[in-house]
This record gives sequence, structure tokens and C-alpha cells, in this order.
Amino acid sequence: MVHFKELKLDEKILRAIEQLGYTEPTEVQQRVIPVALQKQDILVKSKTGSGKTASFATPLCELVDWEENKPQALVLTPTRELAVQVQEDITNIGRYKRIKGLALYGKSPFARQKLALKQKTHIVVGTPGRVLDHIEKGTLDVSKMEYLVIDEADEMLNMGFLEQVESIIKLLPKERTTMLFSATLSDVIKKLSSKYMKQAVSIEIDAAE
Ligand code: ADP
Ligand code: MG
Repeated sequence: MVHFKELKLDEKILRAIEQLGYTEPTEVQQRVIPVALQKQDILVKSKTGSGKTASFATPLCELVDWEENKPQALVLTPTRELAVQVQEDITNIGRYKRIKGLALYGKSPFARQKLALKQKTHIVVGTPGRVLDHIEKGTLDVSKMEYLVIDEADEMLNMGFLEQVESIIKLLPKERTTMLFSATLSDVIKKLSSKYMKQAVSIEIDAAE
């Protein structure tokens, strides 16, 4: 059995993971976390329910600089519900490092999110439309965004977010780590990854496991 301890994580993060009741990292977590900690771009295909969220939330919580006042990581999700869920997972895993996550999504007052963005935030999680809106209006400063995660990329494209995702990527710093997660890999997703990722490590977990 592999332990989270073997993944060279901060004691504060190990303690938080233990409290979540996770005893053993899932296969995708075992394979993704060490690569993500090296700040390499990653393209991940792994089925729903395999634990992809913690596979990026854990390294993000590990890598962000607590001292930095501007947001350093952006996670894009296809739905509001998923944005909230991922934000909660990040808050739980980053609890003892006092990592601040913020969820941004549509059909919710822009002004309140604008106010929340004035507070220190390490990791922003959001749906493409609202995230783009905040970047364009200057309420979300992306100048220090070192990490980009595209979660549930297949769902994202099914929902017609490709154009907005690309617009966001073009506004982010070129020097960054990009991770893309999906349950399925289509040609469009592969094209997206080759266009915006650098020498991405490809991790595919067999669906028949
Ligand atoms: P995916 O994004 O691949 O669909 P999730 O990240 O949503 O999967 O995780 C699915 C479920 O598994 C969640 O309820 C999560 O809390 C749980 N989970 C994740 N990692 C572990 C682990 N290492 N041990 C036990 N449960 C886990
Ligand atoms: Mg997921």
C-alpha cells in the first residue's frame, strides 16, 4: 500500500488529508501529485470518481506561496456546483496552511465577488464566463497566475466553453504550469493541450481497472 507520506507533502497537508479520511492516495493521485509538484504540464485522463480533484488540489496547496497577495492558481470548472465543490476541497486540504480559495460563477452578484476578490486569495476556482468577465473588468488580477487547471475538460467543451477557455488562457502569464483533467480525451482536447501546454506529461488511467 502506498501512503500519502511517500508523496513528500508538507506535514500540514498530510494532517488535513488524514482528517478527510483518505488513507491511501488513489491511482490518479499517486501518479499526478509527484509530477505536478515538479511544476510540469500534465494531461490526465481518468474516469469520474477516481479522485482527480485532490490530485490537483493537493499540489496546488503545496506549491502556492502563502505570502503572495495576488492569486496564483486558477481552476476552471464547467459548472457552479463543481466550482463550489473544488473550492471546498481546496479549503479542506489547505486548512492548516491557511490557503484561501474563492469560487466565482455566474448567476450570482458580481459586486459581491468583486469585494471578495479584494481579500487575499491564493486559488481562484470558477466557471469560464464569470472568470473572463472578472479578468476583463480588472477585478481579477491574473498577473501572478502560475498555475492553470482545466477540470472536466470534456464537460467544459460539451457545454460550449472552448472559446471562453481559450480567451482566458491568452490573458494568463506565459510562464505557468498547466494541467488538464478529463474523463475522456477527444481530438479537440488533445489539440487544446498541444496548443497551450509545454511538453505535457500524459497520464492515462485505464478505465477497465
Ligand atoms: P473525479 O474528479 O475523478 O470524478 P473526485 O475528485 O470528485 O473524482 O473524487 C471522488 C470521491 O472520492 C470524492 O467523494 C472524494 O472525496 C473521494 N476521494 C478522493 N480521493 C480519495 C482518497 N485518496 N481516499 C478516499 N476517498 C477519496
Ligand atoms: Mg472531477
